[in-house]
Amino acid sequence: MIWKNDVKTTVMLTFDFDAETLWISRNKDNYKKPGTLSQGVFGAKVGIPSILELLRKHDIKSTFFIPGLVAEKYPDRVEQILADGHEIGHHGYLHEWVDPDDPEKEREIFIKGLASLENITGQKPVGFRSPAWETSDHMFDLLIEHDFLYSSNMMDSIDPYRVVKNNKETDLIEIPVQWMLDDAPFFLFNVTGPSRPIFPAQHVMNVWKEEFHAIYNRGCLFNLVCHPQIIGRPSRIDMLDNFIRYMKSYPNVEFATGSKVAKYVREYY
Ligand SMILES: [Zn+2]
Repeated sequence: MIWKNDVKTTVMLTFDFDAETLWISRNKDNYKKPGTLSQGVFGAKVGIPSILELLRKHDIKSTFFIPGLVAEKYPDRVEQILADGHEIGHHGYLHEWVDPDDPEKEREIFIKGLASLENITGQKPVGFRSPAWETSDHMFDLLIEHDFLYSSNMMDSIDPYRVVKNNKETDLIEIPVQWMLDDAPFFLFNVTGPSRPIFPAQHVMNVWKEEFHAIYNRGCLFNLVCHPQIIGRPSRIDMLDNFIRYMKSYPNVEFATGSKVAKYVREYY
């Protein structure tokens, strides 16, 4: 139990707004395939407005992780996200999967994505989520060098913590993630590669409910990762609506952005 002031559990609802870059980063040839890419376009066109409406209804502030190129392509969506008081985090430039053996390229992409987000939003993001959580040994150094507040990439804890470098705790906070609290493993379907059937929304809500209940009992962090192009389908938005109601039915649950959680950890731990 790490929360103070009567908070039993903190919930982060986060959205990785990948749009078409999700498909291009998986296979470069996809940039020539409007049908494949239109799955990403759906995230911008339908997913983001549906999510913003839902968050407004529940009075919840979230964090949206956005690749630089997506911010450049959809500045109106970025503006709407910011106008509703949500946070925007760094999510690469073209949703590149990092090659741990090419630190120069990793640095180049990081700086390009950062510059793009700063240019579009007029503010520097303080949180970083690596595309597909593909990371390298250099990631934490890059984040510390660029004075980031937090990373949201590791699967080694249920609570946020200070990143340790050279046996010393740093000011960089890790906000852990897990595939089971991500919509992609259940719903993302790929016709060209090995895939699996799409799960019913009800099934996914049950998985998330079980995990929320157990995390709540332990007083840890519930960090949910969704993608506008995936969760934005009507039945899934309704499911997320019901799931938020379910979490709100527990006493002393706080909803927070990544930066709010990270600042809290910096202050108390
Ligand atoms: Zn992503």
